[in-house]
Amino acid sequence: MHYDTLAISLNSNCNANCKICCGMPKSNQVLNDDIAFHFLRGLKYNSDIKRICLTGGEIFLDINKVYKWIKFINESNKKAYCVSNGFWGYDIKEANQIVKNLKQLGLNQLTLSYDEYHNEFISIECIINILEACKRQKLPVSIQTVILNKNNNKKWINDLVSYLPDINILFFPCYQVGNASKNFSSDMFIKSRDKKGLLCEKSGTFMIEADGTVWPCCSPYINETELNIDNIYLSQNANIDSALKKIRDNKLLYCLRNFGFDYFVDLAENKLDIELPKKFVSSCELCAYLFSKINFKRFNRLIN
Ligand code: SF4
Ligand code: SF4
Repeated sequence: MHYDTLAISLNSNCNANCKICCGMPKSNQVLNDDIAFHFLRGLKYNSDIKRICLTGGEIFLDINKVYKWIKFINESNKKAYCVSNGFWGYDIKEANQIVKNLKQLGLNQLTLSYDEYHNEFISIECIINILEACKRQKLPVSIQTVILNKNNNKKWINDLVSYLPDINILFFPCYQVGNASKNFSSDMFIKSRDKKGLLCEKSGTFMIEADGTVWPCCSPYINETELNIDNIYLSQNANIDSALKKIRDNKLLYCLRNFGFDYFVDLAENKLDIELPKKFVSSCELCAYLFSKINFKRFNRLIN
């Protein structure tokens, strides 16, 4: 498995409270920059990692922290990306200034999270102002949209019609975790994947969470598992190279990524009496079922 991207969650809190949020937007964790920079001290010399993606929570709540990180990423000779809900686009002048600063500091692409559920907290004018500012500053921008069964995204997409030739809108099925798991019944999630034949598909990206946990991928489901690799607050000597080595040496991850889940599904159902649904949103949901805190110990006893 070749890792070329690191996602860093700068905070867990958010000024919105979307029903589809796969996190806990009212939690209050903020990444300790000094400890994170210490962990990343060898980043500049690591030739595998090419991209750093800053995510949250809503990271633009502390714009100076975002600027500081983009500067650091640029000085480490990596490409910087970030994700936001776009609340800061309420004023076109303000939006222009922020996008100009981002561009000057070396941001490569901005991703806006938007859909009918974000629309309850963030007006479409904010998104339009940011799209205008990105156009002016020639900063690539895309929109990521979460969907459930029975969507109502037509209205805001229609409002953006004149921008559509220039931007990508990426649609993702909503994950049944965090806020979303509390707000919607199971039949609202698009569960189209059969449990047989699934493979871990999130290639190339691992993650540092605002609470310091190092995860081997950036799927929201990973938080429900025991597959954490390290914690930058607890291991003084940990660094980007040691974390990558731990991920590469992890036999379970190696199996999931190269041979898939079938062996573990078979063990779960036939040896451990773990009941699994027939269909899943994705392999990540199956991963969260199998390697949850409770089930992980049971697998460990069987495999080791
Ligand atoms: S989905 Fe994004 S914008 Fe909405 S509450 Fe969660 S972190 Fe905030
Ligand atoms: S299957 Fe598991 S390890 Fe793979 S990307 Fe999904 S949550 Fe991460």
